[in-house]
Amino acid sequence: MKKTPQIKGTLHKGHADEAPHYYECPECGFLSANARFGSGEKACPHCKAEDGKRRDFPPERLRRLDGKIRHYQSEGESEIVVILVETFLEAMLEDSIDRILAARGADVKVREIVLDGQRAIGGRIGRLFPHLTNESFEDAAAEMGYRDFPRKWREMRRARNAFIHDSPFRGARESLDDEMAADSMILLDNAYKLFVLINNRFVADGRKHATEKRS
Ligand SMILES: [Zn+2]
Repeated sequence: MKKTPQIKGTLHKGHADEAPHYYECPECGFLSANARFGSGEKACPHCKAEDGKRRDFPPERLRRLDGKIRHYQSEGESEIVVILVETFLEAMLEDSIDRILAARGADVKVREIVLDGQRAIGGRIGRLFPHLTNESFEDAAAEMGYRDFPRKWREMRRARNAFIHDSPFRGARESLDDEMAADSMILLDNAYKLFVLINNRFVADGRKHATEKRS
């Protein structure tokens, strides 16, 4: 399987104590951790745009949610951490699919209809994502160096569901422990990196091609 080459400085390294800060090219949507990127000082490595009107990523609402997750983790509230990380990843995936749709020319109304038509997370990963990118989420993650991510996310989702929904078929789960919370914090760290790479591949590339076709 081919591996997507990474532009140096695109991702933050290691673990941070707060939501990592990325900068977004207003022209193509490329995301980079490089603080010089999009400041007018350094051209976008992707579309070569030079203007300084970069945007921040993740958006403010996700940054606030990230802050809450880290707060609860520091208080040892494992159950809340697992539930919120799962919520966070679902919001990130929604953002990601929304951006891919926009890059492919869908307006707000179309994006709303598509996302509303597929509310379940399994369908978004299993159907929507591959339809839009011509690749399974699993393959895309593996290509970007996060092969285990989809499985670990699935396991966390299962545990969260068993904890929240008392299923008469499978039995309820009594707790989400510290170990699961620690695992979900790793998942959160990796989610930023994976979604930035997915963005740069399917959003930045998609928009670039759409612009080339138009001109
Ligand atoms: Zn760009």
